[in-house]
Amino acid sequence: MNMECPYCKQELEYHDWFYTGNHAAYEKGYEGSGFKKLGDIYKCKNEECDSQSFNYSFYTRLNDDELKEGYPC
Ligand SMILES: [Zn+2]
Repeated sequence: MNMECPYCKQELEYHDWFYTGNHAAYEKGYEGSGFKKLGDIYKCKNEECDSQSFNYSFYTRLNDDELKEGYPC
């Protein structure tokens, strides 16, 4: 799915995804690592963009497609 920057309307670049739980344990196939993907992180590549104040980052959560500003925590 393509996302566009709400500030400059430029297409956002897919950057990373974020999760909860123990990723290392999950990769080793352990049960009960609590690992779960929570959403995706996007970045605006336009350096003139007003999103500079939050490092050009946006994210969405898996259960809703609303684009949020900044980095998930
Ligand atoms: Zn932008």
